[in-house]
Amino acid sequence: MAGPFIVSETPERKTSQRKRPEQIATDVVRAQRGGFEPSGFEQHWFDRLKASRAASSLFSVLFPSNCCICGEPLLNISRLPVCRQCLGKLHPVEGTVCSICGERVLSSYALSDADGLVRCPVCRRIERPFERAVAYGSYEDGLRELVHLLKCSGVRPAARVLGRMLAEAIATLEQDFANDPVLVIPVPLYKGKRRQRGFNQAELIARSALKIYSAGGRLQLATGILERTRPTESQIGLTAHQRRENLRGAFAVVRASEVTGKAVLLVDDVYTTGTTASECARVLGRAGASKVWVATVARTLKLASKAEGFKVSGFQGFNEENEAVTENLETLQP
Ligand SMILES: [Zn+2]
Ligand SMILES: [Zn+2]
Repeated sequence: MAGPFIVSETPERKTSQRKRPEQIATDVVRAQRGGFEPSGFEQHWFDRLKASRAASSLFSVLFPSNCCICGEPLLNISRLPVCRQCLGKLHPVEGTVCSICGERVLSSYALSDADGLVRCPVCRRIERPFERAVAYGSYEDGLRELVHLLKCSGVRPAARVLGRMLAEAIATLEQDFANDPVLVIPVPLYKGKRRQRGFNQAELIARSALKIYSAGGRLQLATGILERTRPTESQIGLTAHQRRENLRGAFAVVRASEVTGKAVLLVDDVYTTGTTASECARVLGRAGASKVWVATVARTLKLASKAEGFKVSGFQGFNEENEAVTENLETLQP
């Protein structure tokens, strides 16, 4: 006859405190969102969940099945589940782009202004809260998958590849930096989100970029100066007005004295509509930053990415990647 099951329990667990599994799951999710401090018992489950996620992520990295971009089986074991062909295809934005915001411009707008800068129709009409925004490549050309690999799947080796690209984008600003030191500030996550993800992807990418390019040591990483003071909804599917409202007051400079009079390079993984970059740049400007540049790995482009085609891509619904298509002047008003 089978004996009784022996259930191992953590010391903190007392019968009177027993929770139903659904309640534990809910609490773990709340704890991940930063909503409350977990008890010892909940922390135990929280840690187990994290450990199992780490194990499955490790498994998928050690025994990869398919390339995360093209889906073809991978021939080599790699810490980055992307095939060589797909990595080789990632390339900088082709064609002429706006010197201010990085948007692709049609040939009719490709003539430089008197100051030598090329401006898109939007940047001719309004003043941006930053000097210039540069990006390495188009979000739609494989970079989205690579960014998601880091951000959503937690595959950290992707940060090295993305960092190399960010370094290339930053290097295009070298002349703008002059000889002054520049604070490199990653767009922050809300603390609950950061805890849930375990890292801020913008910071990881910035760190790897600075190992490759630091403008002769003038670029200095500065974390903890800019903070996201409240959780914000996803920007996906919001109108321009809603996006601005969603981010209004969501960022704050906590050590203003460190920013006053300083040049700042704001870095992020992706520039979609520019609402986040503009809001951060405004907050940094109000705190006394002398100049703010923006550098991202990827950028959504309104025009199809193939330089020879210049087709205007059609609107394909409310998703983040196509938000730029619906961008209008109203988005960008200060
Ligand atoms: Zn591939
Ligand atoms: Zn522009």
